[in-house]
Amino acid sequence: MDTSRRTQREKILIVDDSEMNRSILADMLGEEFDVREAEDGEAAIGILAEEGSSFSLVLLDIVMPRKNGFDVLREMNRTRLIDDLPVIMVSSETASDQIEQAYELGATDFIMRPFDASIVHRRVLNTILLYAKQKKLLGIIEEQLDEKEQYSAMMVDILSHIVEFRNGESGLHILHVRTITDFLLRKLLKKTDKYAFSEADISIISMASALHDIGKIAIDDKILNKPGKLTDEEFAIMKSHSMIGAKMLEGLTAHKNDPLVKRAYEICRWHHERFDGRGYPDGRKGDEIPISAQIVALADVYDALTSQRVYKPAYTPEEAKEMILGGKCGAFNPLLLEILSEEFSSLKEAIKDETGRNAGKRDIRNFADAMLHARGTSASDRTLKLLDYERMKFNFYAELTEEIQFEYVFAEDLLKLSPWGAKKLGVTEELVDPAHNEALCAQFGARWFEELGELLAQTTVENPEIRHEFPLAIGGEERWYDLIIRTIRSDDIPPKIDSAIGKLVDVHDVHTTLMQLKESSIRDPLTGLLNRTGVAEEIAEKLKGFPEKQYAFAVFDIDEFKSANDVYGHLFGDKVLCEVAERLMHNTRAGDVCARIGGDEFLVVFEYNVDLHPIIARIFKSVCGKVGPFDMTVSMGVAEMTEKNEPYNEIFQKADIALYVSKNSGRATYRFYDASMVGKIAANAADAGHGRILADESGADAPQDQEKLS
Ligand code: GH3
Ligand code: MG
Repeated sequence: MDTSRRTQREKILIVDDSEMNRSILADMLGEEFDVREAEDGEAAIGILAEEGSSFSLVLLDIVMPRKNGFDVLREMNRTRLIDDLPVIMVSSETASDQIEQAYELGATDFIMRPFDASIVHRRVLNTILLYAKQKKLLGIIEEQLDEKEQYSAMMVDILSHIVEFRNGESGLHILHVRTITDFLLRKLLKKTDKYAFSEADISIISMASALHDIGKIAIDDKILNKPGKLTDEEFAIMKSHSMIGAKMLEGLTAHKNDPLVKRAYEICRWHHERFDGRGYPDGRKGDEIPISAQIVALADVYDALTSQRVYKPAYTPEEAKEMILGGKCGAFNPLLLEILSEEFSSLKEAIKDETGRNAGKRDIRNFADAMLHARGTSASDRTLKLLDYERMKFNFYAELTEEIQFEYVFAEDLLKLSPWGAKKLGVTEELVDPAHNEALCAQFGARWFEELGELLAQTTVENPEIRHEFPLAIGGEERWYDLIIRTIRSDDIPPKIDSAIGKLVDVHDVHTTLMQLKESSIRDPLTGLLNRTGVAEEIAEKLKGFPEKQYAFAVFDIDEFKSANDVYGHLFGDKVLCEVAERLMHNTRAGDVCARIGGDEFLVVFEYNVDLHPIIARIFKSVCGKVGPFDMTVSMGVAEMTEKNEPYNEIFQKADIALYVSKNSGRATYRFYDASMVGKIAANAADAGHGRILADESGADAPQDQEKLS
């Protein structure tokens, strides 16, 4: 081997489950080749799928776990890699049927274990060299063929498109005829040695098959696409298309010796002949009809049967096969009928595969056509199937999640709902003009669509998502839902919202649990009033109305409550506390904040308009009064909000100071805070030596506006 001209070292794949064997072979070959190893058939198949074409040789063990050597060979046959990549089997198996099977599957050579280094080396080198030569020759031929083929293929594509277009056929018919022709031809060559066609012949015949109906260009539209039965006269005109096509090709004098033109001629002229001699235009019989035309005739009929046409529905492949075998659609070469019957399932596969492979190659027009005809004719289009599959998968998951998923497309004013969502809402899955849909308005409110628009307007290119939690009465029962929407914008400047996707999720249970948790953290379980934590939140929110609005804090504490507990018991004490709460609720307004902020201490924060005094007097009186045997009085302190942004704690403290002043001036009274109270309390506290407010025994400077309960 002329190693000097090789720019890169050849790559060899060694497949053996024994690490020892791999390493022996790698040692023998590693110096001269790039060696890659696979520890079983499955690993080898993976490597070959990824980078098979980069290897020059495979050394393949037969007996391996997971996938064995035969499996690898079979896979290489399936992918046709075996045509380009030589495989030398390496085994200690001597069973001749195994060796034979390996050769049948395309192995090039066999090496026995234990290895002889020089033999391994020689065989590997020889095989690589041989394949390299072959490849080079093939490459030269392919290059020449390729260029020509590309042009021809393009011309054939254009011509067949024109024909399809006029015939109103789907883009798939020509493609199918070509695939079926190729398939039948290959099977025929395997079945009989009557025909000697090369790979190039096969490709030319398959390509030429695309032109079988080219003569229809000359047929009047009205006849061509007539939905009903043709009259005798029309049928005669229709039949002329095969001869016209042949004449057109014959007219290409400059190319008349071109193999493609020659094959196309045969096919155009004789693809409506019948094996029994009753076809047209020449009434040829049996093998007087060129085999290319015989095959295309069968392919044409088969695909016509399995496709929907203006005048007929699509038959299933099985029905089509039975009709053809039963002689209902013409007379065909028995050999071809045998193939149709024997190789039926692989024929179906081939059509499916080819359609899929070509889906990407076909141009947009064709794809659009296929989409348009999707319902009727091209159920086999793999792309559509994949889309369908994705949709099915999506719907399946959507069903499981029990979410109302939706998509709204602005340009079409179209709302699409997931099947589960549509069912839940009691509407169809697709709704035009959803804003005015009665069922939706009934569940979401008449303005729902506008409200949704307001939410969407809050999204931006950077933050396209929005969440909103609110109660809805879907299906009658009011529950909490979480709405999550994502907007999709156009590329315009400025971008506008094209569509919105999202979902409405029932979060009622989570929501209520959270709410309950929150409630329990802010409410006093005994009286149901807000507790110290809860009241803080409420007040902060409330005080924002100042200075337009005036606010007052009233803090009060039950007098001699301990004794009520002591005399009548703790449970009775509880009853007293509940009674206070009850009285408060009855004597304050809905917007007022009432809280139990300590053992027997309560707070009321409220808004007032003109005169605070009568309100305080009323509240004070309402909470005092007998509870059972306990003659209840309270002491109360009151403070007003005096400046903007005054912290509520400070107001509260002032009220608290006033409360203790009233406690100390004999209880059962209320006092309004004034600044002079502060100094007195501080002095008393210092005298007593502890933090509690001491009694102001004198009562001399009791404010004017105190009221003693008698
Ligand atoms: P004062 O006139 O100075 O307010 O005296 P008081 O007896 O009312 O004493 P104080 O307000 O300092 O004490 C309140 C008492 O309330 C202390 C405690 O035994 C009682 N208490 C606190 N929480 C509860 C409760 O949930 N249920 C009952 N039954 N009693 C409580
Ligand atoms: Mg008390």
